[in-house]
Amino acid sequence: MTKVLVLGGRFGALTPAYTLKRLVGSKAEIKLINESRFSWLRLDLPHVSIGVKDVEEFRLDLSQALPEKGIAFEEGKVQKIDAKSNQVVYQKPDGTIKEEEYDYVIVGIGAHLAPELIKGWDQYGYSVCEPEYALKLRDRLKDFKGGNVTIGSGFFYQGHNPKPKVPENLVPQSDAACEGPVFEMSLMLHGYFLKKGMLDKVKTTVYSPGEYLSDLSSGARKAVGEMYKQLGVTLVNNFRIKEIKEHEIVDEKGNTIPSDLTVVLPPYTGNPALKNSTPDLVDDGGFIPTDLNMVSIKYDNVYASGDANAMTVPKLAFLAVKTGRIAAEHLANRLGVPTKIDTYVPSVVCIADNPLEGYGVAVNDNSFYGGTIAKAIPSATNSLKKELFVKYFMWSKGDLALEKYMGEW
Ligand SMILES: Cc1cc2nc3c(=O)[nH]c(=O)nc-3n(C[C@H](O)[C@H](O)[C@H](O)COP(=O)(O)OP(=O)(O)OC[C@H]3O[C@@H](n4cnc5c(N)ncnc54)[C@H](O)[C@@H]3O)c2cc1C
Repeated sequence: MTKVLVLGGRFGALTPAYTLKRLVGSKAEIKLINESRFSWLRLDLPHVSIGVKDVEEFRLDLSQALPEKGIAFEEGKVQKIDAKSNQVVYQKPDGTIKEEEYDYVIVGIGAHLAPELIKGWDQYGYSVCEPEYALKLRDRLKDFKGGNVTIGSGFFYQGHNPKPKVPENLVPQSDAACEGPVFEMSLMLHGYFLKKGMLDKVKTTVYSPGEYLSDLSSGARKAVGEMYKQLGVTLVNNFRIKEIKEHEIVDEKGNTIPSDLTVVLPPYTGNPALKNSTPDLVDDGGFIPTDLNMVSIKYDNVYASGDANAMTVPKLAFLAVKTGRIAAEHLANRLGVPTKIDTYVPSVVCIADNPLEGYGVAVNDNSFYGGTIAKAIPSATNSLKKELFVKYFMWSKGDLALEKYMGEW
C-alpha cells in the first residue's frame, strides 16, 4: 500500500494528515512522526504568560488523537530527509536511530526559533513561543516591580535561492517572520499592568528588525502607531537584536534600548533537520521551495506545508492550515481520489487578543501580496472569537475540517 509520512505535530502537519485520511481512507497508510507525543497550541501561549490560561488546557496527546482517526503516530525527532532514497531518518525517544521509507512525505516540521543566536538569552531573555518559556515569563511577571519593558522579534533568516515556483508577489521578503505575537503581547502586557495598578511604573518599547508590521497596509501601521501613542508605547524600527543584558538590549549596530524585562520572539531560521537533508531539497535558508500545490520544486514526492515551506511569509497558522490542506488535496488526486484543490490565496489573518481588557484586534490584510483587503478591527467579540477557535481546535483535536467555513480567525 502507498505509504505517506507526515512530519511534525501542529498546524502544518495535523491539517494534511487529517485531511488526507478523510479523503483517501484506506487507500494509503498514513503515519505522522513528531518529536513529542504532546503538541501545544502556540496561539494561546501568550495567554499563559499573563496568567489567564494554563498550558494543560491546550495540550494535545497525539498518540491518542491520531490513531482514533486511523492515522499511525510515532514519536521521533527527524534528523534528516534523504529525498534521493525516499527515506526519513529519525531518533526514537530511547535514542535508537530509525530509517523509514516513504512513497510520499509531507514536511510540516516548521521553522527553528533560535533564541541561542541572541547573546544573554539564557540569563535575561523571556519569550512565549514554547510552554516552558511562557511559564517562565508568567513567574517573572508576578515578581516584576516595574521598569523598562521591551517586546520585539529577532531577525528572520529567510531563504532566497532557489525560489518557490509561484508568482513572486506571493513570497514577499520580510525582516521579521511573525510580528503578530509581538503586537498581541504589547496589548496583553498593557492589560496586565493596568489590572495590577502599575502602568505608571512601566515604560514599554516595542521594536522590530525592519519596519514594524510590514506585512500590513500602511494605513494599519499608522493606526497601530497612533494606538501606541495613546498607550504610551515607544516604537523603534530597524533594531536587530543581538544581545540581552541585565538592563538593556543591544542591536547589531551597537544601538541600545533600556530593558529590565526583555520579551523576545526569537530569530527564525530553517529547521536544522531540513538543513541536514538532501541539499537541493531546501533553499539557502533551510526552507522547502514548492509550487502552488506544495510539491517540492526538486522532488515530486515531497510536499511542504506550514512554516517549513519557503512560500509562507509571514509564518502564520492561517497559512499553515491553507498549505496543509492544499498538499493533502493534491496528493489525494495522485492516490486516485478526484478532489478539488484549493487555490493558495494568502492573507495575513489573525486575532491579537487582549483578554484582560476584554477586546481583540482582528486582522485580515492582503496588501503584503499586492491585494486591497486591509482590515484591522478592534472589538470585544474578537476576543471571544479567538477563544472559540481555541475551543474548536481542542475539541476537534487539531482537525480543522470546518475552518474554511469559519470566516476569519
Ligand atoms: C507565540 C506565538 C503565537 C502565535 N500566534 C499566532 C496567532 O495568533 N495566529 C496565527 O495565525 N499564527 C500565530 N503564530 C504562528 C503559528 O504558531 C505558526 O505559524 C504555526 O504554528 C506553524 O505551524 P507549523 O505546524 O508549520 O509549525 P510549528 O508550529 O513550528 O510546528 C512544528 C511541529 O514539528 C515538530 N518538530 C520540529 N522539528 C522536528 C523534528 N526535527 N522532528 C520531529 N518533529 C519536529 C514540533 O515539535 C511541532 O510539533 C504564533 C506563533 C508564536 C511563536
